[in-house]
Amino acid sequence: MLETCPSCQEKAMRPGTTELTRKIGGITFKAEVPVELCGSCGEWYVSHEDGHRFDVAVARALGAHAIGTPDAFKFMRKATGLRAVDLAELIGVTPETVSRWETGKVSVERRALALLQALVTEHAEGTTATLDRLRALAGKKKRKPRAVRVAL
Ligand SMILES: [Zn+2]
Repeated sequence: MLETCPSCQEKAMRPGTTELTRKIGGITFKAEVPVELCGSCGEWYVSHEDGHRFDVAVARALGAHAIGTPDAFKFMRKATGLRAVDLAELIGVTPETVSRWETGKVSVERRALALLQALVTEHAEGTTATLDRLRALAGKKKRKPRAVRVAL
């Protein structure tokens, strides 16, 4: 909680909410987000954490609505915290390809979008199954075991 308002310096901060909106892929996404509100000047502040929670929720909604526009792809990637070069490595394309998708020079590949949607969902849920799988596949070739016992 802020002690004084960074804008007017008054000790008038109180918890509140505000409606945040983001327009991505031609759709406006809205959410009621917790803020610290100044009772004196009316300025409000969103914590970094709540701002990120909003972005992740928007990224999930983009996935749920199967939005694969260039800006949606870029927004979803950023919500997962992956740099373009990292995502490229994980899904086996060049960084230039990711750049072309995000600038709209080339249509986003459906399979890349599906993987990114999975990464967004897991990022929101705090799991990493797809990320772990992609990392293993992108990694250097490990020595193959001769035999593996599997469980039924
Ligand atoms: Zn203020």
